[in-house]
Amino acid sequence: MMTNADPRELAKFSELAHRWWDTESDFRPLHQINPLRLDWIDGLAPLQGKRVLDVGCGGGILADSMARRGADVLGIDLAAKPLKVAQLHAIEAATPRVAYREVAVEALADEMPEAFDVVTCMEMLEHVPDPGSIVAACGRLVKPGGWAFFSTINRNAKAFVFAIVGAEQVLKLLPRGTHEYAKFLRPSELAAWCRAASLEPVSARGLEYNPLSRRYRLSADTSVNYLVACRKPA
Ligand code: SAH
Repeated sequence: MMTNADPRELAKFSELAHRWWDTESDFRPLHQINPLRLDWIDGLAPLQGKRVLDVGCGGGILADSMARRGADVLGIDLAAKPLKVAQLHAIEAATPRVAYREVAVEALADEMPEAFDVVTCMEMLEHVPDPGSIVAACGRLVKPGGWAFFSTINRNAKAFVFAIVGAEQVLKLLPRGTHEYAKFLRPSELAAWCRAASLEPVSARGLEYNPLSRRYRLSADTSVNYLVACRKPA
C-alpha cells in the first residue's frame, strides 16, 4: 500500500529532531503556541481521563502536555527520529500515560476504529500529499460524541506574506523551506473534508504572532494560522 507521506518532509523533521525539546531551537514556535492550544482543547474537551490520539506528534510537545493534564495519550508519526526523541523525553520527564508508535493514521483507523475520545492533528496537514485522507482517518478514529482538533495555515496573500516571507525570511522563526504555500489549506477546504468524515466543525480560532512582544495569542482572525474543533455526532 502507498503511504500518504512525503519522504522529504519526514527527513526534514528527522534532521532537526535532536533539538525538539530545546525551546530556543527551530521548534520555539511550537513550544510557544503549546499552552494556548492545550488550554483551548482542554476547555472544549476536558482531557482528564480521556483517551487521546495525537497524529503527527513529532517530538511530543502537545502529546506530553495532554498526558500531564490527565489524558491517556498515544502519539503517532511516520518520522522515526522525532518519535525516539518523544519517547526519550517521556522517560526523562517521567510523563505518565503517554506512548508513541510509528504507524500511519489510515492504518491505525483500520486497527482501532472509534477508539479515542479526542484526536488532535496539529501543524501536520500542510506537510502531507493527501490531507483529506488524514482527516477521514481521524474521523474514523474518534468515538461517536468525541472531538477532533486540527491546526494548519490558511492559503491567501496575507498568509503567504506572514507565514513564509515573515516567519521564514524576515523574522527567521522557522528554517527556510519549512512550509510550501501551495500546501496551505483554506478553512472551507478543511471544513469540507471534516464534514465528509462525519466531523462537524464547531469552533475555529486564529493564532496571531506579535513580532514586537514575540508572543502568540488566540484570536478571531483565522486568515493565517488557525485551529478548528470538530465534533462527531453521538
Ligand atoms: N504535531 C506536532 C508536530 C508538528 S511538526 C506539534 O504541533 O507540536 C509536523 C509533524 O508531522 C512532523 O513530526 C512530521 O514528521 C509529521 N508528519 C509529516 N507527514 C506525516 C504523515 N504522513 N504521517 C504522520 N506524521 C507526519
